[in-house]
Amino acid sequence: MALLGPLYGGGFWVAFRQLVAVYYTAGFVLHYLVPRLFHVKSVQQRKPRPGQVAQEALHSLGPLLVKAGVWTLVEELHRRGSTKLYQGWPPTLQQALYMLVTIVALDYLHDAWFYWTHRLLHWKPLYMHIHLPHHRSTAPTAFCGYSFHPLEALLVFANEVLVCYLLPIHAGLHRAYHLFTTVIHEGGHAGYEIAPFIPSLECLAALLLGGASGRRPCAALNTVRHHDMHHRYPRSHFSLYMTHWDWLCGTEHPEYRRAVAAHFAGEAGSKAAASEAAAGEAAPAREGKAA
Ligand SMILES: [Zn+2]
Ligand SMILES: [Zn+2]
Repeated sequence: MALLGPLYGGGFWVAFRQLVAVYYTAGFVLHYLVPRLFHVKSVQQRKPRPGQVAQEALHSLGPLLVKAGVWTLVEELHRRGSTKLYQGWPPTLQQALYMLVTIVALDYLHDAWFYWTHRLLHWKPLYMHIHLPHHRSTAPTAFCGYSFHPLEALLVFANEVLVCYLLPIHAGLHRAYHLFTTVIHEGGHAGYEIAPFIPSLECLAALLLGGASGRRPCAALNTVRHHDMHHRYPRSHFSLYMTHWDWLCGTEHPEYRRAVAAHFAGEAGSKAAASEAAAGEAAPAREGKAA
């Protein structure tokens, strides 16, 4: 970590170095390493187009610069004493437990922010001028995670400033959590299923509670297929971590739950999975009206 500077308080270039190191390492692991080392089951019906990975990796630099700028702003606001961030290490047991609660709160806030800003980005003028480049990948790769317009980055990352005014957050946790969300975004575009092992606290809790039957992902939590389908059906699936917003607001794709069940049912479910695949081919990604 010495090479990457202090976790918090190092300024813009330290923040940018941390983001580049985590983002491109995770992208390499998810896109190149894991599929070579393990048997992975694709959730896609198409292959990425030639040159797509390089293009997505390059386009991610803009949002990474924006995110480093957002963190520099957070550091400056904290220095001026206007946020609820706090410092101090190591934590007491009570403080450590509070940090776990903070992570869950940040997940719910992040998910809600992502859902509603994502729906806004599907409003035709914003979609055509800002969000469309992200949707050019109908078979996304891990490097598509932050491959979007810098203005979209400003909107998506604004919640990282807002949460500093909503609840007390340890400054180091704020940085570590938002570094980790880059990996969550990349995982959601990996093209193969990593649920139920998406390493969030909620997934861990679902696995522990599910015991041996925890191989099937918890229905309340997103799978990789969930966002992957958004790239084929842009009017469905706007959330990031959990399924409740899409379910409550009627934006969950009617084939989604059947396709997930089929995916995890093995060979017996391959026919149902093929049905989602056929539906995907019959209705290629298109957009135009408000979501
Ligand atoms: Zn996406
Ligand atoms: Zn979208």
